[in-house]
Amino acid sequence: MARRWIWVGLGGLLIVLLSVGLSPARAIAPPQPQLTVSHLSPLRTVAGADLNVLKAEPPDSLAQVAPPRQVTALADPSNYGDRYATDINGQVLHNDFIAVLHETVGSAQSALNLFRTRHPRDQDQVSYHALIGRDGTVYYIVPPEKRAFGAGNSVFDGPNGPETVRTNPAFPPSVNNFAYHVSLETPGDGMNNRRSHSGYTQAQYTSLAWLLAQTTIPDSRITTHKAVDRSGTRMDPRSFDGQDFFALLRRYPTRSGLSS
Ligand SMILES: [Zn+2]
Repeated sequence: MARRWIWVGLGGLLIVLLSVGLSPARAIAPPQPQLTVSHLSPLRTVAGADLNVLKAEPPDSLAQVAPPRQVTALADPSNYGDRYATDINGQVLHNDFIAVLHETVGSAQSALNLFRTRHPRDQDQVSYHALIGRDGTVYYIVPPEKRAFGAGNSVFDGPNGPETVRTNPAFPPSVNNFAYHVSLETPGDGMNNRRSHSGYTQAQYTSLAWLLAQTTIPDSRITTHKAVDRSGTRMDPRSFDGQDFFALLRRYPTRSGLSS
């Protein structure tokens, strides 16, 4: 009996050694990762982190009350990285946060599955910080203090002039280092490349306003992927009603004085 346990113990040790040996080589250390952020809502660790929650019946939109239903569905760590305090030239970065709005084009479930899949190749790595389903559910995907890979080649043209940051010599500069990426689940008639679709649900606008009301990102720094994109290929979120959204956002007393 004792001998058997020795073998079990040795087997365990072997597994530990193998897993240490097989862990992926660390990428070259980035310059000075930024470990904490202010002005963004903290990641909510809510019950039901398992994706099975997604199978639950959507709440009746009429019965929707703030705060919305929230689910933590963290991305695989290969799909996001640190926010950097310096760029590739060693320049210290001072960008305030922007919020960048997107749409999924596919279903929320397929987007969440994609983010949970490990992507070893840089060019396959994608993520948003949060995603809002058709029923208004907010899915937290990447911790806000981390850099989500929501935009490629991109520049934010804001009140302070053009802002973009290069953190990887292999890629064009982007807004990712100072962006909070939020995506809206596309309606069924928009899962294609057409220029428009039937738009987003009231529950989605309500949840988006609630989510961004948890931040101190001013209205003038809330933008879209289409507006920051410099690749000429992105037009999301299509059929987004900015007027409706900002009207909802400005109902929050905490937002007064944040319009510029
Ligand atoms: Zn996008």
